[in-house]
Amino acid sequence: MIVVASANGDVGIDAAWEVLAGGGSALDAVEAGTRLVEDNPLDHTVGYGGYPNLLGEVELDASIMEGATRRAGTVGGLRGYRAAITVARAVMERLPHVLVAGEGAARLAAEIGLVAEDLLTDAARATWEAGLAGTLAGEGTTADVMLSRVASLATDPERAAGTVNFIAQDGAGHLASAVSTSGWAWKYPGRLGDSPVIGAGNYCDDRYGAAACTGWGELSLRALTARSVVASLAAGASLVGACAAAMHDLATLGIPSADVLMHLVAVDAGGGHHGVTTRSSGATYVWRGDGMSSYEVAPRTVVPV
Ligand code: ASP
Repeated sequence: MIVVASANGDVGIDAAWEVLAGGGSALDAVEAGTRLVEDNPLDHTVGYGGYPNLLGEVELDASIMEGATRRAGTVGGLRGYRAAITVARAVMERLPHVLVAGEGAARLAAEIGLVAEDLLTDAARATWEAGLAGTLAGEGTTADVMLSRVASLATDPERAAGTVNFIAQDGAGHLASAVSTSGWAWKYPGRLGDSPVIGAGNYCDDRYGAAACTGWGELSLRALTARSVVASLAAGASLVGACAAAMHDLATLGIPSADVLMHLVAVDAGGGHHGVTTRSSGATYVWRGDGMSSYEVAPRTVVPV
């Protein structure tokens, strides 16, 4: 058994492990771990306390996938409910759909009994007001400004962004993966990233492995980066080779290499794990396996593109 998560999953990985240790499924484990990150107000990239879009509204994207069947559920642009991963699971288990966005996602959240709340914390609001609200001040009110004129701010790699990834393999050998994010801070309202798109930010197949991304979602949306890793595994690549190939694939998108920002974690069918990044040596992920009393922090391999 194993659980792997992006570094910000450290607040949830031991809880995810306890699910597995108690005989629970990989699907339950990745949901449990992700929920704790969504609850963390100090994480401004996921769930409650996430940074908002250009208008100051928090919009969440999430997806969950099980490897045995490749069933999946995803939500995009969810407002007013922190547990985006649970709503994504409800899409998978209760609806004949894979992806539900916007008001429909919020409606489903209410139908499964989640509590509506304002996700914009005072700290996140203060950062938004001090930052982009000031930029917009000369343009008019945020309601009438031409947001498309300032939307490029949302793709500035220096802007705050992030996502949580969880991948688990349970005692029965099944894989599951979960991804949740508030997306790029200061994104254009309604913008969906890679996290709610199966194959882009998340992919899971018991036969070969699973992969989940953080980074510039517009790139993994175009390259289907998570699916790319699993497809390479299916073609016989090693885990290290499959991750590197998916990152190198991003180098052909016409983006200056300095701007290619992508990180992923992956697990193969044998329970091996690996994490890579296009940037910053020092980047890490967390994992926990059999015989370990808590999680460990592992370095991500830097793959220059
Ligand atoms: N991938 C996320 C998105 O594009 C953000 C991130 O992980 O930094 O919405």
